[in-house]
Amino acid sequence: MHSEVKGLVLRTTDVKDSDRMLSVYSAERGLISVYSRGSKSLKSRNMSTTGQFCYSEMVLYERGDKLWVQESRLIENFYNLREDIEAFAVASYACEVLEDVGTAEGDGKLLQLTLNTLFALSSGKYRIPLIKAAFEVRMCALLGLMPDVVSCQECGEREGEAFLDILEGETLCRSCHEKRQREAIALTDTERRVVCILSEGARAAFAYCLFCPAEKLLAFNVEGEDAALFCRAAEAYILNHLERSYKSLDFYYEVRR
Ligand SMILES: [Zn+2]
Repeated sequence: MHSEVKGLVLRTTDVKDSDRMLSVYSAERGLISVYSRGSKSLKSRNMSTTGQFCYSEMVLYERGDKLWVQESRLIENFYNLREDIEAFAVASYACEVLEDVGTAEGDGKLLQLTLNTLFALSSGKYRIPLIKAAFEVRMCALLGLMPDVVSCQECGEREGEAFLDILEGETLCRSCHEKRQREAIALTDTERRVVCILSEGARAAFAYCLFCPAEKLLAFNVEGEDAALFCRAAEAYILNHLERSYKSLDFYYEVRR
């Protein structure tokens, strides 16, 4: 039986006899493992269309309990990603996150977010840490892990800086945050809390990435300390909610040093 998908190759692994296993995400079939015959060989027709970051139309067939690529046609290869190691690292991270959260049920929005992120990274038009943070925030929103960053959980204050409780997904204004801290000390409440400060600018950027139209995700700007606080909160939020670390993220910090 044959089927067709438009899929993004998230990762490739060499297997025996010069075959490759591809981890592919498509809207049609979600996350699938697909085998590509002899694609390590320069002679292979599929080689330039089934590498990591290739977004390709693939005709698949089933043999035994495996899916194989019969034909593939490249839609986009994001080739420029190879020219900037930081962009490459963030692209790998986005793909690793999608592979982690992807299921057999395809979600076109997760795919689109990841493709848009790779486009932005390969375009060289945006600052890489902001692309990364926007991806992290939007990914959480799409997964239903949306924090309330708009108003203080206790008093409804919408202005000024906010304290984002990463695990609870709620924010407090400064006075409610300080009050809660005093209460926690009084009750010797030792519950683990991860709190990130969001300046007004950082909070606006965070809220923008949660609610803006998908195609305008990077149409915002945030500078200096605001940008640093936004990026720190975005990363802490996704890592704490997905409850794991990513090798490609470690690699990103290595290359930034
Ligand atoms: Zn408050």
